[in-house]
Amino acid sequence: MNSVTQEVKLMLDPSATAPADYIPPVGFGAKDVYDLTWKNLMDAYSCTECGRCSSVCPANQTGKLLSPRKIMMDTRDRLEEVGRNIDKHGADFRDEKNLFSYITEEELWACTSCNACTDACPVNIDPLNIIIDMRRYLVMEQSKVPSGLATMFSKIENNGAPWQFAQADRFQWAENINTD
Ligand code: SF4
Ligand code: SF4
Repeated sequence: MNSVTQEVKLMLDPSATAPADYIPPVGFGAKDVYDLTWKNLMDAYSCTECGRCSSVCPANQTGKLLSPRKIMMDTRDRLEEVGRNIDKHGADFRDEKNLFSYITEEELWACTSCNACTDACPVNIDPLNIIIDMRRYLVMEQSKVPSGLATMFSKIENNGAPWQFAQADRFQWAENINTD
């Protein structure tokens, strides 16, 4: 992510300078439709609800809560709700709801990011992009992750890898191997 790379460089590299047109990010990931790209929003309006994405989704096929088709329909429902609010109250109006009023964390974390849904869509819609951006919001803004991922994150922070071993010990398995 360019926004993350830029922020880390500015924090950790004393010689780094911000480009003249640099605008610090106000947040990471997507909490609501305002945070999605125009392509995401057009995808939501373009979905034919054919269900080909959900029929190839491994999470859906193994009984998980996730349906990429529903992700697109929920995004459209929220987008239409925001549109009605703007018509009624003006462009600056914000209600109490957001995309998480429609899409649950359980659905988002069920995704394996295999990309099969995007591959199967006849009109090149990308449900995975919305899922990943909403997960980014949970992780980077809310520090909300499933416990298994939290463990992996702390290992990466401490060891530079998702395993429980220090980097210096990483090749011990090779040194101890019996070659006889
Ligand atoms: S990327 Fe996620 S939503 Fe899409 S098919 Fe794979 S598991 Fe399902
Ligand atoms: S395959 Fe594409 S058009 Fe069909 S339901 Fe899924 S996202 Fe919508």
